[in-house]
Amino acid sequence: MPNCNVCFRNCELREGQRGFCKARICQDGRIVPENYGKITSLALDPIEKKPLNRFFPGSLILSAGSYGCNLRCPFCQNFEITWSEEAERFRTEAEYVSPEDLAATAYAYQPKGNIGVAFTYNEPLIGYEYILDTAKLVHKMGMKNVLVTNGTASLQVLEKLAPYIDAMNIDLKGFTDRYYSELLKGSRSMVMDFIREAVKICHIELTTLIIPGENDTPEEMEKIAAWIAGLTGVYEGRPGNEIPLHISRFFPRFHMQDRGPTDVRRVYELAAAARRTLKYVYTGNC
Ligand code: SF4
Repeated sequence: MPNCNVCFRNCELREGQRGFCKARICQDGRIVPENYGKITSLALDPIEKKPLNRFFPGSLILSAGSYGCNLRCPFCQNFEITWSEEAERFRTEAEYVSPEDLAATAYAYQPKGNIGVAFTYNEPLIGYEYILDTAKLVHKMGMKNVLVTNGTASLQVLEKLAPYIDAMNIDLKGFTDRYYSELLKGSRSMVMDFIREAVKICHIELTTLIIPGENDTPEEMEKIAAWIAGLTGVYEGRPGNEIPLHISRFFPRFHMQDRGPTDVRRVYELAAAARRTLKYVYTGNC
């Protein structure tokens, strides 16, 4: 049986079987992205909403998402298209938008201030082939490509996309293996490997969502900030402490309704802790 090497799960799939992410499937002995071109969300968003604060500030970006995800964050903000039962319906209901059509739409929005395409909303890397095909066209038209990702993809995927991606926002959701593996069903080591290489390729900003009682101590934030500051070989010769970090406030959502929103004072306290090490720290949802 073939196995998928897009993420840490390495799903081994028999003919017709879908992977854990529900976006890839084994067809004719090969694992292919079943969600290719199936767009569930499309919007012209401010770039700061990705969030990217230090990449063409004030501009807009055509943001496109499909369905599926390889993590299982119980607090997912986009569960309708990621890993809920509802998300399953998009296999048949999502509209097909070819790479040519998406790139042409982005081009048509240029006069409104659009700078390109952001692959976002669900986890885009589980369908990286569509990004690759579209991003090449977007570059040919002189526009930019942005990725908003959980960063749990293999370095082979990153290497394929690298020539065509201009900026990424990557989640660094926490800094303990317990948090990543037990709560999110993810892999902290894969995210860290991914970020280490991504920072060498293009403009990167990172995001940490603060969940009360899970990843909200100043000690953990200090470790996150120190690790970011220690990254080397950063794009355009920047020091690690110039990589922007977004610290976001949690609101109860989806399967995590057992606690209230993050106290705003805690978000500011953690931002202050991060600013002792990092130059650009932003708070979100406050
Ligand atoms: S991308 Fe999907 S199919 Fe591939 S290994 Fe990850 S979860 Fe499995």
